[in-house]
Amino acid sequence: MKVAAYAARDSKSPLAPFQIERRPLGPKDIEIQILFCGVCHSDLHMVRNEWNNTTYPVVPGHEIVGRVISTGKEVTSLKAGDRVAVGCMVDSCRSCSGCKEGLQQYCEVGGTFTYNSPEKQTGGITYGGYSTKIVVDQDFVIPIPTAFKESDLPGVAPLLCAGITTYSPLRHWGVGPGKKVGVVGLGGLGHMAVKLAHAMGAHVVLFTTSAGKLSDAKRLGADEAVISSQESELQKHQNSFDFILNTVAAPHSLDLYLSLLKRDGTICMVGLPDKPHPSPNISALIFRRKQIAGSLIGGIQETKEMLDFCAQQGITSDIEIIHMEAINDAYKRMLKSDVRYRFVIDLQQFA
Ligand SMILES: [Zn+2]
Ligand SMILES: [Zn+2]
Repeated sequence: MKVAAYAARDSKSPLAPFQIERRPLGPKDIEIQILFCGVCHSDLHMVRNEWNNTTYPVVPGHEIVGRVISTGKEVTSLKAGDRVAVGCMVDSCRSCSGCKEGLQQYCEVGGTFTYNSPEKQTGGITYGGYSTKIVVDQDFVIPIPTAFKESDLPGVAPLLCAGITTYSPLRHWGVGPGKKVGVVGLGGLGHMAVKLAHAMGAHVVLFTTSAGKLSDAKRLGADEAVISSQESELQKHQNSFDFILNTVAAPHSLDLYLSLLKRDGTICMVGLPDKPHPSPNISALIFRRKQIAGSLIGGIQETKEMLDFCAQQGITSDIEIIHMEAINDAYKRMLKSDVRYRFVIDLQQFA
């Protein structure tokens, strides 16, 4: 089926209208009318080929919220009209140890990402949510909890990448009451990390380079907010954190944050830099058995749990809604960090 979309045709040109062909509905497939799609920093990296793996034309978008239009004949769990979400993955091998444990994001064969991935069924490339419809295997379509109101839906979209990317490591490293947790950076990921860690009951400290974000950090749920360039402020937090979630992708020294971890503390990286961070001071790791870790989005089951948690806690992303035609201006503003905290495209305005 022919579907209206927006694509980048090369790394230099602005995104522009582009018609894509979605695969015919297979027996386990679900056809979804896309209502909203969040705009992730990965979209921007991929459009500009900053990870050197972009296949053009590329249709980005992996924070998708929509409504089921029709279902393949073997689908029983969802029906037309249901509200559903699709995140960063639309398939995986299903037989490796990662897939068997529900960790499809760590598929050893290489999962199928929502855009810019080889599509098994067609031999083509997957196209993402900057489009009006998508066809996805039922196992990678996530129902949206009924506790979310219709008016919540735009703010639910970013939970599918920014939400799960921060939720998964917070859960994996046992963040909860009695734990002191740092969040580095207050952007799309950081603002979700602050909300989630606060809702999990931790003591949350936000680190930012921007004085203008201190009051916002408190509003979002941080117990303390610190300007990371103020050394006297940082001194007070030496050797005190159980866990730090670092959402900043731009290359920077990790030593500062390593010094804030207590013995056995972990700093987890979720931003993917296009150039490496400077090598950390290894003695800082050795002398207090500290760890530097990384984490990638989350599995399908965990994404369901995350949506349930957010629905219970009344958590959505802080967003600014845009029309599809405004995407190039939105990218320019993202490059200046001029968004609080996520752009979401309203696809109902686009045909
Ligand atoms: Zn993303
Ligand atoms: Zn696998």
